[in-house]
Order: sequence, then C-alpha cells, then structure tokens
Amino acid sequence: MTRRLVLACALACACRELPQVTHEGQHIRVAVDPGLELCAGSMAHMDEFVARLSAELGLEVPTGDERPLAYWLERDGFVARTPCPERVVGCARDGVLFTNYMPYNHEFVHTVAHPLGRSLPFFNEGLAVAYGGLGAEIDANETALLGPVEPLLRLPDGTDLGAVDGGYPRAGAFVAFLIETHGIDAYLRALDDIGRGADVGDIDRAFLGAFDASLASLVAEFDIASNRCAHPAYDAKLIECAAPELAWSDGRIAEHRPIACDQPDAVGPYGGNVVVVFRTVTIAEPGDYIVELFGDSTANKLALRSCGRCGSEPTLALRAGDPATTVWLDLGRHTLRLFGSVDQRTSLGLRITPATTP
Ligand SMILES: [Zn+2]
Repeated sequence: MTRRLVLACALACACRELPQVTHEGQHIRVAVDPGLELCAGSMAHMDEFVARLSAELGLEVPTGDERPLAYWLERDGFVARTPCPERVVGCARDGVLFTNYMPYNHEFVHTVAHPLGRSLPFFNEGLAVAYGGLGAEIDANETALLGPVEPLLRLPDGTDLGAVDGGYPRAGAFVAFLIETHGIDAYLRALDDIGRGADVGDIDRAFLGAFDASLASLVAEFDIASNRCAHPAYDAKLIECAAPELAWSDGRIAEHRPIACDQPDAVGPYGGNVVVVFRTVTIAEPGDYIVELFGDSTANKLALRSCGRCGSEPTLALRAGDPATTVWLDLGRHTLRLFGSVDQRTSLGLRITPATTP
C-alpha cells in the first residue's frame, strides 16, 4: 500500500469518527453524517433559537469561533462515537453538542448555557426543559405533574435525572416557575450560587439571596401555583411565539400552502420524517372558534395553543380528515405549528373562524 493510500485511509477512518462541519450558520456550526439531510429552514431555525436564548440569558450572541458546534450523527454507533450515555438522543459536553435527532433545541440550551457553569442536574436540565421549545411534539402529555419537587433538589451531581420518574418535566416546571415569578436575572443570580456540589442548605441560601424567599416557601408557592402545569404550557416557547403571524382577513384566518422539506421555512426532520412550519395567530377577542384543517396526507397536522403559560388551554391538535373543532381561544398570541412529512410533498389548508359572528 502506498503511503498516500495509507494516509487517505487513516483520514477516511477519522472522518467516519466525526464529520467535518457541513453547515455554517450565523450563530451555530453543524457537522452532519453523510446521508442525513436537514430541511431547508432548519439552520435559520437553530440560528434564531441560539440568538434568542443567548439574549434571554444575558449572554453575548455567539458568532465566528464562538458558535456552538453540533454533530448530527447516525443512530447506529452513536454511543461509540460520542460521550453520550446509552438511551439518550443527544448530549452536550463543554459546549459541543452530539445528537441523532435534529433540530434538538434542548441540547442547544445546554451548549448556550455552558458559560454559566455547571450546576446540579436539577437546574441544568430544568433550564433546558423550560426553554427547549415544543419542536415536533404534538401529543405531549398535558396532565398534572403533582409529584413533590423537593426530593429532586437533593439529587447529587452525576445523577441521571432522566431515570427519575417525572424528573425532567418537574425540574422544568420549577425552573420555569422561578423565572416567571422572579425574572431571569434573579434566577441567574441564584444559579450562580448553586454549584455542582450544592446541598439543600446551599440552595436555600441562594434562593434567599436572589429571590428574598426561602426554598420551603417557594416550593409551597409552586405547589399551589404551578405544579399542575405541563411542559407545553410552561415552556418559554421562544421560537414558537416569535414566528411569522398569520393575518386575519374578513374576520377569519384562511391559509393554504404546500408543505415540503425543501421550503425555506420548513424545519425538520426531527425524529426522521417530520416537517414543521412555525406560525403565530393573535386572538383579539377571546371566545369559541371553529378550527378546520384540510390536508392530503395523514402527516398533515396542526397544533395550536396559547403563548400564555400555566393556566392556558391545552394544545389543540388536529389531523387532516378530523372534523371541524370548536375550541376556546384565549386573548393574545398563539403558537401554530403546521406538520408534513419529509418524504412527501403535501399541501395543507386551515381555517379559523369565530364560532358566533357578532
Ligand atoms: Zn438535557
């Protein structure tokens, strides 16, 4: 074998380990395994997410060499090629993200939040869940959480919160509650004082310093106010609620459009075959509305919910072929996600009409 061939083989083997950067975004870099393909709007979606989240956390929006690097890899051999444990779809280490699922904004939260330093698993994961967004989740469980949050705060660094029943959604709910009631700046001040080795006493002191309230009183307040709040409600929905708005015309919203992975606003493929287009709808008059969805594939779906937090109505999910549905819509902005599939060019129509015309 010639020296050049040996070198080429060594490089090929190294490339098989981890791919080179294939997509240069404004605020992220993505390296994709051969054969995997992002939908046309995915880079813009992730760029915008990283920019909005950085601003929310008071961090400089990363550009140039500061941009987080994300590896999107095949499922086969994923664990062998990454530092991620078994059974996860992604993980972040030192600001670098590894995943076999894209876009995966949960892991981008970990990479963006990396400069804040590591805390207990409860707070690391709580932040990622509270800001991870809705992505392609459409049938999320919106039942009450109800489990006590306090035992989760006692889990030491290194604990797999995902192995604890309800660990992620409850951590997300509590972190979202603290941010909602005391503001992100106070939350970040508290987090600053909760290191990896913090115990419950340290958390209590950090909360007293940042929120002027004890851990016990905040847990009690949370149990009353928010422990019945599910992820789609408490999530910050940074992208979902900043998406382009559909306009009302003649007292109704009527939209008809093709949905395909190569459209500039199509985000995917998520778990493999899902295309999502993000939009918003503003309700000026709360009340009952008739929502209709027309589509030419079972992949065509719609998910509509208020951008309000806990206490807002659960997500309305419709599939093509479902009958027209009457739902109560709260005042204000709503996130509307339109679904299709990667391997089909479909078209979809929707109509939102007040149930009673004045
Ligand atoms: Zn996580």
